[in-house]
Formats: sequence, C-alpha cells, structure tokens
Amino acid sequence: MSQSYIVVQNQGSEIGDELNAAKREAFFKGGENAGPKFDPSQRFVSDRERIPREPHGGHTLKDADEREKDYSREKKYGESTKELDGYVGFANLPNQVYRKSVKRGFEFTLMVVGESGLGKSTLINSLFLTDLYSADYQGPSHRIQKTVKVETTQCLLKENGVQLNLTTVDTPGFGDAVDNSNCWQPVIDFIDSKYDEYLNAESRVVRSPTPDTRVHACLYFIAPTGHGLKPLDVEFMKRLHDKVNIIPLISKADSLTPDECREFKKTILNEIAQHKIKIYEFPECDDEEENKIQKKLRDRVPFAVVGSNRVIEAGGKKVRGRQYPWGLVEVENLEHNDFIALRNMIIRTHMQDLKDVTNNVHYENFRYNKLAPSSTDGNKIKPGSLSKDPLTQMAEEKKEHDNKMKKMEAEMEQVFEMKVQEKQAKLKESEADLQRRAEHMKKSLEQQQKELEEKWKMFEKEKQQWEESVGGSKGSQENIKDTNKKNKKHLF
Ligand code: GDP
Repeated sequence: MSQSYIVVQNQGSEIGDELNAAKREAFFKGGENAGPKFDPSQRFVSDRERIPREPHGGHTLKDADEREKDYSREKKYGESTKELDGYVGFANLPNQVYRKSVKRGFEFTLMVVGESGLGKSTLINSLFLTDLYSADYQGPSHRIQKTVKVETTQCLLKENGVQLNLTTVDTPGFGDAVDNSNCWQPVIDFIDSKYDEYLNAESRVVRSPTPDTRVHACLYFIAPTGHGLKPLDVEFMKRLHDKVNIIPLISKADSLTPDECREFKKTILNEIAQHKIKIYEFPECDDEEENKIQKKLRDRVPFAVVGSNRVIEAGGKKVRGRQYPWGLVEVENLEHNDFIALRNMIIRTHMQDLKDVTNNVHYENFRYNKLAPSSTDGNKIKPGSLSKDPLTQMAEEKKEHDNKMKKMEAEMEQVFEMKVQEKQAKLKESEADLQRRAEHMKKSLEQQQKELEEKWKMFEKEKQQWEESVGGSKGSQENIKDTNKKNKKHLF
C-alpha cells in the first residue's frame, strides 16, 4: 500500500458557493437572507399562561385528582417551544460549530475502482479541478501492476478558507488479470483495515482526535459497453455493498449516443435490482426547492461521465472538455454528460451524508461484527440474546462449555483409540514379517545342512575309494591327513 501527499490551493469560486456562504453569514448575523426574524408582537403565548391560577400562585380548593391533572398538563406544556423576549445568544451556536469545523478542516476519502484505462485518474482531476495526477505524478494505472494493489494519494485542497483533506484510493491492477477471481479481496482488506484503525483509536484509554481515514465513497467505473454489467462488476458490488457507499459510474460516456446511454442505464439499474445490490441512495434534502433540483440529478444514477485533463477555448470561454473533429464534449455540461450531477452530489450536497452513512451504517456493521460476543460455535450472539439475566446466561454458557468439553473428550478418546489400533496393526504386521523371515532363514539353514551332509557323504565315499586304491601304506598316511584337511577347508 503506497501513499503520497500533495497540497493544492483552489482560489476559484467554482466549488465554493459564494451565494450559500453569503446566505449562511446572513443567517448567523440576522441579515437579509436570514430565516424568520424575532417579532415580539407575534410572540407565542404559552399554554402554561392560560391555566387559571389563584392570585397568589397557589392552587384553588380543587380536589387532588384535578390538581394532579393540572400538574401533568403543566409538565407537558412546560416542554413546548418558547420564544424568548430578548436575545440570549445561543442562536450563535451554529456559528461556533461552523468556525470550529472550518478551523479543524474536513476529511474525505474517495475510492475509485475499475479496470485500467477507464478514465479514473482523469475523472478525479476533473472532479477537484486540479491535476492530482499529472505527467510528473501519473495515475496508478500507469504504474503497471500484476496484482491488485491499493494506493492512496493525499491532497490538501483549499477553497474560500475551507480546507479539505482529500484522500483518493486507487486500485491499480483491478480486473486486469486473465483470472480476476478474488481481485476484490485487497479492496475489502483495505476498507476493513481502516475501520480497524478507527476502532482501535476509539477504544484507547487516552483518546486523541482521530483522523478519519475510513473510505466514505467508492466510485465504481463501468465500461461503456452498452451490454450491462460484467460478472466482475456484479461480484465486486455484491461483496462491497455492506462495507462502503458504492456509486456506480458509466465511464467515457462520450462513446455512447444519448439513446444508447439511456438504455444502458436502464439495463444496469435492472441488473443491480436483480442481484439485490445496495448502491448508495442519495437522500432527499430538507429544502424543497433544492430537493426538486436534486431529484433531477438523482435520476441520473448511474452517472454517465466524461473526464478530461484539457482546458479548451470554446465561444470565448475556457472549458474542460474533449475536442473531436465533429464537436466538443464539455465535461461540465449537463446536456453532454452527468459529470456536474455527480460532482454536485458528492462534493456540494451529500459529502456529509456519505460520511454519516459510512459512520452510522457501514462502520457500525463492522464494529458490531468485531465486538459482538461469539457463542461457542463461533456465531455472533444477537443483541437481544444478551438481555437474559446474568446467572441464566452464565449457567447456559457453563452448560455449553461442559458440552463442548465432553465432545472434545469423546473426540480425543476416539482419536486415541484409532491410534492404538493403528499401532497394534503395525505391531502385528511386523511380528508376522519377523516370523516369515525366521521361517525363511530356518528353511535356508536346513537346505544348507542337507547340502553339507550330502557333500560329507560324497567325501567319505571318495576317501574310502582312495584308501582302497592307495593300499594303506604308512608313509602315505600323513599325505592322506593333509589332503583331508585341505578338503575340509574347501568345504567351509
Ligand atoms: P485510468 O487508467 O482508469 O486512470 O484511466 P486514465 O484516466 O489514465 O485514462 C485513460 C485514457 O482514457 C486517457 O487517454 C484519457 O485521456 C482517456 N479518457 C479519460 N476519460 C475519458 C472520457 O471520458 N472519454 C474518453 N473518450 N476518453 C477518456
């Protein structure tokens, strides 16, 4: 896993919505665009004031039941909203939060996944209007990989005094091999490792402010084939949808005609529904007008985008785009592609929601799986099951433990018995082998003995014949003895 760090200052007001900033300032300072102003004449008369009271504030001679009723009504009314007569100052609280947040800066981690050459690096550059990847520092796909690697690039972006610590996570090598089985595993490991880091930092006795390095969104690039999702696309999204906010994109949308693009989007959405893949759902905002605009943008999912690293002059304006002999494709033109919709959604309107869903849904899932106690069979105990009283729980756990021990004992005995039987069988085998060899030796010895006896008989016979032929002279007796000795030597 590699990491690099870049600092970029964005002075343009493209992303920084000055209008919004002015609105916000006005709201906090009570200016023109502020919400409804405080008007004493419209002051809400609290219900509590309408309850009839005795001049001294004491209760009348009502019976206790009625008093009880009044008291509970008072409590209820006491909780109702009250406008204040004057300015106390807590209306400034959002301002404090705003200043603190701006001072602290913001963090966002964006993961891009897709085969190399689908335009990931180009799109990242276009999204943040900066050359995060350039000729000097090329996108990860250019650093050819044989296996899937996860690379992070950190970049500090500044816009109207607001700092965004952007981390982009790329996965060079994804889907580029002949056999792509398990190529999602390094991505899963990376996401889990970030959750793990966060969980460890949270669980420390002494906690310091933890940088949030969890992956907040994953842009998944789909090749503009027009044929729907590839098996790898389906598999990747299915395996990752419970871990990260997946935003599917159709890359290089300029290679499809508007009709083809519309059909392709339909096919993709159908397949996503068919495979029960949960992609990130952009929620509705609070503002109704904003909502209407957002809905139009939301309807463009999966976003069909075009990216470009080139700024071209068109009609006296400088625009990011792709120049073709038959015309210009403008990246930031909603008529040409969904790039602006994507950028608005991710950066301007839903960045915080992406972070919230990461924290409240995906991280919570991870945390639960990690921390939930496991039953003895390795399964996670459901939260409800912990509501038993501790003694019953302990007794059950002890019983379960005893059962497990008994089972283990039985298994060990079985293994022991098997081993004893194996040893006995081996001993028997070697005994039989020894017996066989002894018998074999016995037979060969008997054979040798027989041969010796025959030879001895032959010798005796020869000796007799010789004695008879020589005639038994004394002088020759010693010669006979010598010959006997020699013959014996030959025998053995
Ligand atoms: P990556 O490997 O996924 O990071 O892809 P790159 O960003 O390096 O782009 C690969 C090639 O595709 C480059 O030549 C880009 O200029 C080109 N490219 C990038 N975006 C688009 C696009 O939207 N449309 C077309 N036609 N080409 C694109």
